[in-house]
Amino acid sequence: IANITTIPLLNIPNLIQIGYQLMDHIASDLTRNVNNVSNYVIITDTQLAPLYLSTLYKLIQSHLKLNQRLLTRILPCGEQSKSRNTKAQIEDFLLNQKCTRDTCLIALGGGVIGDLVGFVASTFMRGVPFVQIPTTLLAMVDSSIGGKTAIDTAHGKNLIGTFWQPKRIYMNLSFLETLPKREIANGMAEVIKTFAISNEPEFIKLENGKNQIESAILGFSDQSDATKLDADRSMLMSVVSACAAYKAYIVTEDEKEDGLRGLLNFGHSIGHAYEAHLSPEWLHGECVSLGLIHEAELSYYLGHCSSNVISRLKKCLQLYDLPIKFDEKSKHRLGLAQVMDTMKVDKKNKGDQKRIVLLKKVGSALDNKPTDVSDVAIEHVLSK
Ligand code: NAD
Ligand code: ZN
Repeated sequence: IANITTIPLLNIPNLIQIGYQLMDHIASDLTRNVNNVSNYVIITDTQLAPLYLSTLYKLIQSHLKLNQRLLTRILPCGEQSKSRNTKAQIEDFLLNQKCTRDTCLIALGGGVIGDLVGFVASTFMRGVPFVQIPTTLLAMVDSSIGGKTAIDTAHGKNLIGTFWQPKRIYMNLSFLETLPKREIANGMAEVIKTFAISNEPEFIKLENGKNQIESAILGFSDQSDATKLDADRSMLMSVVSACAAYKAYIVTEDEKEDGLRGLLNFGHSIGHAYEAHLSPEWLHGECVSLGLIHEAELSYYLGHCSSNVISRLKKCLQLYDLPIKFDEKSKHRLGLAQVMDTMKVDKKNKGDQKRIVLLKKVGSALDNKPTDVSDVAIEHVLSK
């Protein structure tokens, strides 16, 4: 297929497909590859529906066979939709519509829609096929890949869920044109994280390619110069593809997170603790930005990397509009004792032992799994 990058996942070729202006392609590939179903159900949110739903609807509709139906469901946007309530509402809708096991759910949205629809798909009629059409940068490079599905409860985020793999993941980079700037930065935190543990050349591309990435996302670039726009777009496409390919590789090696997949938590052991105290004012990626810096500082403190790693990481995060320090008000909400206490409930801990991904240098983690780190060392770095 011209101008589409494909990436295998869990040994299935072409499972991930990346490109620009992919709507036509998505509709035809989807109806061709997930074809033994009677119902397709697009689930999206109130933010995305006016932007993209009718186009996708018409295109898919045009490929349907006589006995196939296309339904849609629009949910409120925001994390609150990742709830037991919303899951039940979708299920009741599907049951009212007489959907049975031959139903394919289509998640059109960011990580919220993807996680929720994946979870519904995994339990509806004991499991129906679903596809991911991620619309945020974060969902493209991170949440749509790997089969983790979940909802939140009052006790915390993502505490109830399943592993359930999508049949296809379509990354239409043109969707990023309408994504708010702060959400782009939110996704860039995961991109920077990924290359920091896995790929120095790609990290260097980020260090040098801010303008190209930005103009490719915005789409207008210097319109008089079509060659430049093409170059900028291939640059963004190569970055998203490299990031997605690394996650796909990790998930293929360690689907259920017994070791290697834990590497993707770089920046998240500390970052999640910040998020627990600063959300919703601070976005996930903004907390991870500080988490990345502090976990790199921990790596330096423990003697595993040079201080240059910390400064390059900081510079790169700042370049992509991510915070590199806390404002006074936020600092106030983050007492050392509370942060340490919150870190105790990390799903990744083994008993009391905290496990954190450490860096050896830019582009390489210390080990192929998180490392046991003492509370004393963490406290030292966090109290600086
Ligand atoms: P999100 O899904 O809430 O999307 C952010 C906002 O942007 C929403 O208001 C949405 O309506 C809007 N939006 C999305 N795409 C748009 C577009 N193209 N144009 C304009 N507006 C658009 O946020 P997110 O950051 O994509 O996802 C966060 C969720 O992902 C969290 O619930 C998190 O737990 C989950 N997550 C899951 C995994 C996983 O492995 N399953 C990994 C990381 C994060
Ligand atoms: Zn993350």
